[in-house]
Amino acid sequence: MDFKTLNTSTLANYLRTVPSVTALLGDMDALDIVEVGDGNLNYVYFVSSRANPRDSLVVKQALPYMRLVGESWPLTRHRSDREAHALRQFGALCPQHVPQVLHFDSEQSLIIMQRLSDHLILRKGLIQGLRYPKLAEHLSTYLAQTLFHGSDLFLSAAAKKQAAAATTNSELSKITEDLVFTCPFEDHASNAYSPALPRTEIERLHNNPALRVAAAQMKWAFMNQTETLLHGDLHTGSVMVNQTDTYVIDPEFACYGPFGFDVGLLLANFFTAYYAQDWQRPQAGEDPAPYQDWLLAQASSIWCGFSDKFLALWVAHEAPTTQSFMGDARDADSLARFRTSVMRQIFSDTLGFAGCELIRRTLGLAKVAEVASIPDTQARAAIELRCLRLGEALLLQRHHIIDMNQVLDLAR
Ligand code: ADP
Ligand code: MG
Ligand code: MG
Ligand code: MG
Repeated sequence: MDFKTLNTSTLANYLRTVPSVTALLGDMDALDIVEVGDGNLNYVYFVSSRANPRDSLVVKQALPYMRLVGESWPLTRHRSDREAHALRQFGALCPQHVPQVLHFDSEQSLIIMQRLSDHLILRKGLIQGLRYPKLAEHLSTYLAQTLFHGSDLFLSAAAKKQAAAATTNSELSKITEDLVFTCPFEDHASNAYSPALPRTEIERLHNNPALRVAAAQMKWAFMNQTETLLHGDLHTGSVMVNQTDTYVIDPEFACYGPFGFDVGLLLANFFTAYYAQDWQRPQAGEDPAPYQDWLLAQASSIWCGFSDKFLALWVAHEAPTTQSFMGDARDADSLARFRTSVMRQIFSDTLGFAGCELIRRTLGLAKVAEVASIPDTQARAAIELRCLRLGEALLLQRHHIIDMNQVLDLAR
């Protein structure tokens, strides 16, 4: 069947043709279908049985353009092939943190998946000042499992090259190359500066050669360090949570790239959440300090949990043989030094990518709601200034920062 843009009525007819859906939802004449997409790119529907509203699923369709802008910004709808593939791959590695794919139709660019019905988008929870006791544990597990298993540390050299070649995502990667690494670092027409943010500060960043070089180095790393399969868009709007569960959704930007990319983007979004509390908590009549401490502790635990678990997966994978990635594994001293050097490289990449994300979410096209929704333009600009300062420090000092404690000191 030729590609068709579905709507709430044509979707009902489509769903009748999918056995796994009719088995779940029962009476196909009594469905509630609502479009709920709040992202920038795609259409997302909740479909539930009227008789049994708990029987419910999510349908996500990619159209051949960007939802936020419309048909004037064409974008391959085949991004849903990448998303479905990545959801399945990440889901096989950590089923407890990835929604299950029930059905994928490449011709219709349509994914039917498990509905997370008691879960909230993490960004919204953080704006409300909510705490999630398992969050850092879950996110660090997700990162270690997904990033380790897509790499040469786990796959055979041939399998990894084949996976990397099969995962090209040129159009969406180009969005990242432009909007994360390029435009925010110059006075580009696509940038969006908030009204009270001092122009002198923006110009100071744009005229700092060391900063522009650092951003270009991160772009180079993103494009050339094809180390593992990335989620590619791991901000706090791609995480859904409640008190017991954590799920990562929306991997349509999946591509091969550096280990530190997903980790760095995620950490940066904890830092934007941290700074935004200067406004958010007093609005709710609260002292921001305790929640801000919690947010920084999450950032630290995510990095530390990730690096411990990643290293543990690596050691366990190589332990049963005398062969390791570096060759003869009996040379324990060289092996330990090599592993330390890889973790060190991942750490400095993570900091550099976090720095790019902080700057691009402030000066670039796509904002974060916790900051952009602040109506007091002076208060917003003060928070944005803190985001820019941290982003700049992380990018420029990424090779010299020793550990997360030093990062948290910079953030404060
Ligand atoms: P986009 O690619 O357009 O950003 P997302 O995959 O992020 O789309 O989905 C948009 C919104 O739809 C999410 O913010 C979330 O509120 C909702 N959503 C997406 N997937 C699910 C799911 N599996 N269960 C529940 N809600 C979901
Ligand atoms: Mg999204
Ligand atoms: Mg998306
Ligand atoms: Mg999704």
